[in-house]
Amino acid sequence: MAWDFSSDPHFQPQLDWMRDFVDNTLIPLELLLDGLNQAELDALWAPLKQTVKDRGLWAAHLSEEHGGPGLDRAGSGQQRLALMHEILGRSELAPEIFGCQGPDSGNAELIAVGATEEQKQRWLYPLLRAEVRSAFCLTEPDTSGSDPTGIATRCERDGEHWVLNGEKWFASNASVADFLVVMCVSDPDAAPHKRASMVIVEKGTPGLELLRDVPTMHKPHAAADDFLMDRIGGHTHVRFNNCRVPLNHMIGEPGEGFILAQKRLGGGRIHHAMRMIGQCQRTFEMMKERAVSRHTKGKPLARQQMVQDMIAESYAEIEMVRLLVMKAAWTMDTQGAFSKESRAEIAAVKFATPRILLGVIDRAIQLHGALGYSCDMPLEGMYRSARALRVADGADEVHKQSLARLILENTEPVSGWPSEHIPTKRAQAQKKFGHWIEQARAAAQ
Ligand SMILES: Cc1cc2nc3c(=O)[nH]c(=O)nc-3n(C[C@H](O)[C@H](O)[C@H](O)COP(=O)(O)OP(=O)(O)OC[C@H]3O[C@@H](n4cnc5c(N)ncnc54)[C@H](O)[C@@H]3O)c2cc1C
Repeated sequence: MAWDFSSDPHFQPQLDWMRDFVDNTLIPLELLLDGLNQAELDALWAPLKQTVKDRGLWAAHLSEEHGGPGLDRAGSGQQRLALMHEILGRSELAPEIFGCQGPDSGNAELIAVGATEEQKQRWLYPLLRAEVRSAFCLTEPDTSGSDPTGIATRCERDGEHWVLNGEKWFASNASVADFLVVMCVSDPDAAPHKRASMVIVEKGTPGLELLRDVPTMHKPHAAADDFLMDRIGGHTHVRFNNCRVPLNHMIGEPGEGFILAQKRLGGGRIHHAMRMIGQCQRTFEMMKERAVSRHTKGKPLARQQMVQDMIAESYAEIEMVRLLVMKAAWTMDTQGAFSKESRAEIAAVKFATPRILLGVIDRAIQLHGALGYSCDMPLEGMYRSARALRVADGADEVHKQSLARLILENTEPVSGWPSEHIPTKRAQAQKKFGHWIEQARAAAQ
């Protein structure tokens, strides 16, 4: 297969600016946000967001027609976006300031693709202007998120309304969201992938109950109501109890839920993976600095062979997975975002990247000793946050299964011995090339 991806030199100045902005403004600012309420954070973030907009980098995943700057344009769009997200991944705050934070970015893609102009006016454009927040509700406490065809939350038509009943959980940001995009069963008798639809439920709709933000490894303590930095990134348990919304709150047609869900996730997974590469690199920088700075037995850690092993393994793993993600972006650019080839590459990066990231952070913690385990370094927080990525947006096993299925689809079975069976191959070779051997022998006599 040909191999010819290269990065766009015209985009390099933007990447350089982002690297400086992320490293020298956003990462330091992150350390000062504790205790600020929503109004204070909004006031602090507004000029930063404006700077990003002025540079044409706001909501960069969306095309111009959908309200973005058009960085996704044909040719090398996903590669440009991947390189951008590699930089944004260095900072937890960056996606918010660049208008590409989940779940809003995915929801914006879904609404942009499936909604009517009236629906876009109501939900998409305010989301793009960062005037509102959103959540995505698919996973349920009582059914397996790994098989979304089994979801149980119902949406039934009653006159001019859809009536929702059921429970969702791990709906990221739902407790601070202005609206929820809910995947629910509109026709239980249809084929599995045609049963579900996407319905928007706005904050405050009677029958919408936000039960709690579920404490997690990343955020083990319940957040105070006005403590936005804790509540952003919270994962909410939600109940719909005869929750009524008008018919025009459905995105797309009844039964299009799965088609829309796929639109939501393709590009997002690549960008997420590239943000993990950014975290790998920041971690690796900490690791290298510690290795050359800390001395033991009269020499720097960097001169201990087992430390060199950690450095070398980490470097090779980060480069391997970075190339894998770039190849996935390139495949999306050249073969189409929803092609079979792209789906295979996306599935591969979805499970490969968190594994590498967790390994690199673990080594960095080890190299820093007690300091690495302490909250005086960002490593422990990065580790707790990264662990979610082996489950969130589909467990590793599910993506491995999809990848294996796609790979094996075009593999032909053989009857009898495997194609590489040496005695069989030797007999075939003898038949085809045996006379060459005889000729060579005769010529040498
Ligand atoms: C931080 C975080 C944020 C999230 N945000 C959202 C959100 O905003 N909206 C939303 O709807 N959901 C969200 N989720 C939920 C997430 O998408 C689901 O947790 C995920 O899809 C797995 O579903 P489940 O938890 O029901 O696990 P289950 O489906 O019950 O699976 C449990 C485990 O079983 C194993 N398993 C499952 N299927 C297979 C298989 N085919 N082969 C082998 N083993 C298998 C895996 O080890 C898997 O981890 C979030 C989750 C996390 C952790």
